[in-house]
Amino acid sequence: MPAANQSGSPTRWRSVAGPVLPYGRQTITDEDVAAVTAVLRSDWLTQGPAITRFESKVADWCGAKHAVAVSNGTAALHVAMQAIGLKPGDRLWTSPNTFVASANCARYCGAEVDFVDIDRGTGNLSLAALAKKLEQADREGTLPNVVMPVHYSGQSCDMAGISELAKRYGFNTVEDAAHAVGAVYRGEAVGACGFSQMATFSFHPVKIVTTGEGGMVLTNNDGLNEKLRYFRTHAITRETGLLEVESHGPWYYEQIDLGWNYRITDLQAELGSSQMERLDAINRERVEIADRYDELLTGLPVRRPERMTDSKSAWHLYPIQLELDRLSVGRREVFEGLRAAGVGVQVHYIPVHLQPYYRRLGFKPGDFPEAEAFYESEISLPMFSGLHPDDQREVVNILGRLLNAN
Ligand SMILES: *Cc1c(COP(=O)(O)O)cnc(C)c1O
Repeated sequence: MPAANQSGSPTRWRSVAGPVLPYGRQTITDEDVAAVTAVLRSDWLTQGPAITRFESKVADWCGAKHAVAVSNGTAALHVAMQAIGLKPGDRLWTSPNTFVASANCARYCGAEVDFVDIDRGTGNLSLAALAKKLEQADREGTLPNVVMPVHYSGQSCDMAGISELAKRYGFNTVEDAAHAVGAVYRGEAVGACGFSQMATFSFHPVKIVTTGEGGMVLTNNDGLNEKLRYFRTHAITRETGLLEVESHGPWYYEQIDLGWNYRITDLQAELGSSQMERLDAINRERVEIADRYDELLTGLPVRRPERMTDSKSAWHLYPIQLELDRLSVGRREVFEGLRAAGVGVQVHYIPVHLQPYYRRLGFKPGDFPEAEAFYESEISLPMFSGLHPDDQREVVNILGRLLNAN
């Protein structure tokens, strides 16, 4: 059994003050609280300088020219699709092993969605499957307008390979980098957009950096940057060059397209800036946690997440796959056993094409067998900043006992 915490309270876990170890959680420091409090006392709660500060901080960290902060990661994906001009009749391809938002952003624009099967080792979209599907779509005249790689668990997809295919087949690439804040690919930060038009982040509390709710779109393209800002605020402009009739006076503005209010507040942005100060330390800690899991799990009938040599994962998740053919227990029993022992595990992801909404659009079981097999065997172990090594050991002990049952 895990030891009581230092204060001697009956808390079961060292990492958290409670009986359940979550799979992910935020860390809020005194500096974070002070930063947000200062904004509360300032003149600007929204549309103020904290937003620009946060945008510059993230753009600089990533080495991207522009960063546009929005109200959440889903809004980031949606404005990105709008900025690219995705419309009814267009096509977006993404991974089935993702959160539903990666696909929904195209549906918001009335576009069609299709999926590309994954690589079982990394959980990322398979380059070979993409190449094959593109060949066929080229013959049939159904090439995608956008391909959206999702950096599953925080490890970059094969962006160099995807960008070669983008050049050959002429599609846009937008990275769903919700898991990958702080990840590195071929020496550059994910978000640098060296191989894509845009990349998006989420700052939900389970993610790596949080603003409560929040998101960001990164791009090196000036035109896309302008469109992102425009669609973030109702597609309203005051710029004389863009007005369709002559200005009525200094108060005048025009709404030219249909946009949204996808703004983030200054309170959230300042929290984000404060958290970004710790990003290096957060990333380092997550690597240590992942390395420790890799070691502790050695010899157990589980497949550990595969690491690519040309990238450094941000380790949003630590996803294992049970080797079900070597086990007399099923994934569900193991999952429920972990939960019963106070280990807040999760499953990432129910393949998006199997959601009722997507089934009604014609998808069915068997369409993407690798993603389905991944789902059948996957469990995400607790992974967050502040996870105590003793708790990790205990999680693996409990897992080991469950795997050896019967
Ligand atoms: C969290 C997440 C999103 C959506 O982000 P929100 O901020 O929750 O809207 C999109 N894609 C992926 C892969 C995610 O994990």
